[in-house]
Amino acid sequence: MTFKDLGLSAALVKAVEEKGYTKPSPIQEKAIPFILEGKDILASAQTGTGKTAGFTLPVLHYLADTKHPKYRPLRALVLTPTRELAAQVYDNIREYSKYVNIKSAVVFGGVKAKPQIATLKNGVDILVATPGRLLDLHDQKAVSFKRIDVLILDEADRMLDMGFVRDINKIISFMPEKRQNLLFSATFSNDIKKLASGILKNPVSVETAPQNSTAKKVTHQVYKVDKKKKTEFTIKLIKDNNWTQVLVFTRTKHGANKLTEKLIKAGVSAAAIHGNKSQGARTKALKSFKDNSIKILVATDIAARGLDIPLLPHVINYELPNIPEDYVHRIGRTGRAGAAGEAISLVCSEEVEYQSEIEKLLNEKLNSSIIAGFEPTDTAPPKRAATQSKGSFGKKKKPGSSKVSNGSKPKNKPHFKANKTSGSNSGRGRTSAPKKKRF
Ligand code: AMP
Repeated sequence: MTFKDLGLSAALVKAVEEKGYTKPSPIQEKAIPFILEGKDILASAQTGTGKTAGFTLPVLHYLADTKHPKYRPLRALVLTPTRELAAQVYDNIREYSKYVNIKSAVVFGGVKAKPQIATLKNGVDILVATPGRLLDLHDQKAVSFKRIDVLILDEADRMLDMGFVRDINKIISFMPEKRQNLLFSATFSNDIKKLASGILKNPVSVETAPQNSTAKKVTHQVYKVDKKKKTEFTIKLIKDNNWTQVLVFTRTKHGANKLTEKLIKAGVSAAAIHGNKSQGARTKALKSFKDNSIKILVATDIAARGLDIPLLPHVINYELPNIPEDYVHRIGRTGRAGAAGEAISLVCSEEVEYQSEIEKLLNEKLNSSIIAGFEPTDTAPPKRAATQSKGSFGKKKKPGSSKVSNGSKPKNKPHFKANKTSGSNSGRGRTSAPKKKRF
């Protein structure tokens, strides 16, 4: 199957070939023909599957195929949860529309609205936007949704998590009834199903293989370490392994700032990205990380979705997320486009339950080690300790496994010379697809 076989125009095929895509990804192969037919789509799509081209290419095909009046009304709208994802989707649209007569733009908050208003005034065919800023611009009459033909909700679950449901419904209320709707989501909670049933008409369900080939290449490693030792451990991990591009996730914005400061103090170039940073700082941090002028990007879950950092080799969970699905999104930043990736998690006694929830979701025990010099001494709170003894770190505890041991050899490549594996987990070190929350 080629892009041409999917029915896309020669101009679009040329643009994707220039990007180096030799054949459509599974989601593109499945979704593009339906979208070209004008069907509504409900797509289960993890990041890294090529979903952006999956919805962009057929929409561009449709838009380029119709006559453009002198003033171009907005006909296609892509809503995304984060500014970074909006910018990334827009970059893709620009690349794919290189050889077609289509005007595109992006709008999001945190930056001046005036230039966005000026761009919209000139007429735009396809707009990428975050919901809040888009509504502001609509209130100012800088944009109209009356001629929308196609609405795309990207990372719809994240938009709901971020509280955008009212904004989305309000935006939709200004649109014509007759339009095509494409909804992409990584997970399918009841709220997403409710949103989908209110928007989509006779949708075709498009599901990519539960386990995409990129995620298969991610190895997982847990290091059990006390909370107060995590910073020192992270610095050692990065320095000992000479890592040059690592995305580190913290649970809080404050935690991200603190860790960034400490990394810089230790001579490791780093920047933080989270919701309290100005948009200028967020854009700069991401750009410096992508062009390798800094080694470490410390992020909250704002960066867990959608961001495409080609060939990112390492993700460190400085703290485990309390929502197990977020682990899957975080680690999805590595192991993309067929490359191998490593997901490392630092787990202290308080996080044992989180690890256990993640393992349940992945249906797999994570390979777990203790490093000499960083042996955990904190004990878990009583309730959590009980959970741990049920096997959070392994089905059956080996005697002495809570201390440094010469347990089974890790399948994962050791990060330290004195790397010791503990626990009785399988050491498969590879994830299988989340078994839950799929449709
Ligand atoms: P996405 O899931 O849309 O974020 O895309 C993930 C990555 O896959 C991006 O770097 C895309 O440029 C890349 N990509 C998308 N479609 C293809 C394809 N058919 N062949 C190779 N790479 C692709």
